[in-house]
Amino acid sequence: MGAFTAIILAVVIFMSCLLIYVPNMHIIALKVKDSKLSGGRISVMDMLNSSAEEFAEEDHSSKDAVLKGHQIRLTLPQNVTSASVDINNIFVEKTIAITINGIGKDYFSYYPMRGDSNNIVDVTYDSENLVGVIEIVLDDVKEVKMTSEDEYIYLDFVDPHDIYDYVVVVDAGHGSNVPGASKMGVNEKDLNLDIVLELKKLFDRSDKNIGVYYTRTTDTNPSFENRVGLANESEADLFLSVHNNSTASGRMSSINGTEVMYEGGDSTGESKAFATLCLRHLLDGLGSKSKGVVVGDEVYIIRMSEPPVALVEVGFMTNQKELEALQDKDYQRKAAQALYDAVLEYLNEN
Ligand SMILES: [Zn+2]
Repeated sequence: MGAFTAIILAVVIFMSCLLIYVPNMHIIALKVKDSKLSGGRISVMDMLNSSAEEFAEEDHSSKDAVLKGHQIRLTLPQNVTSASVDINNIFVEKTIAITINGIGKDYFSYYPMRGDSNNIVDVTYDSENLVGVIEIVLDDVKEVKMTSEDEYIYLDFVDPHDIYDYVVVVDAGHGSNVPGASKMGVNEKDLNLDIVLELKKLFDRSDKNIGVYYTRTTDTNPSFENRVGLANESEADLFLSVHNNSTASGRMSSINGTEVMYEGGDSTGESKAFATLCLRHLLDGLGSKSKGVVVGDEVYIIRMSEPPVALVEVGFMTNQKELEALQDKDYQRKAAQALYDAVLEYLNEN
């Protein structure tokens, strides 16, 4: 028997002994090993469920001792501190991506996730070059709160309204391989995003306690379901979608101006009230021509929106002058300021 085989054998015997003495760890580790066979990305959901089952079988004190009143506990290896942990909440996908520097593919075999599965639909894990990414898919839009103590980090999922006075969802229309209107090499998706990113700067700087969730802040194309789902499931107070217009034929023309769509099916009239505020502020800020507020119930995200919704068409890309204006940073900033003012006026926060 070669030295290498002997070492492997010794390790196997050692691990087996370890597993006999730690039966729970054994089951949890086996479940991870099982799911590992299916590929690089493993499901950690079984592990979380067995942890929840264990807690259910034991008395309350063991759960309290492990979780200290939190929902999820992760254990960090000795060489990893909480500073190596980065949390990215992808609200539009109800997914929380936790990136931990310094953990490998077998991380969960040694440091099982403990906790209960409330609101958790799925947990997956993958690691490359010792950068591990845990993805937690939730059944609702939640803020995530991280607490760290000793070698543990604890996660809690919190209702947005427990943190913010108001919640607003902002949607930049189209994205990725769906450009929207396209004129003279300018894509609507980019103009929409430019304005939304200017609006984001205003909200980021704001001293108001408003939680703002964006359907996208880069060149992506979330599904219509996810866009309006973000507004509905976060129980937003307002849903604002930013677009730009073009004539039906798509040909350049003299037609120009600002139009705002609202939900005619909203019997409270709140959608129309919000749309009217958006239009007034945009006309004031941009000096554009009014194309009025119009019923937009044929648009899926308008029809399906539970919060008061406004879909603004800032200007016409098929109008030469307006197309040039829409590409101007200062014009984009003015549009963003107008929308910011409209939101604050609606929420009585101005
Ligand atoms: Zn559009």
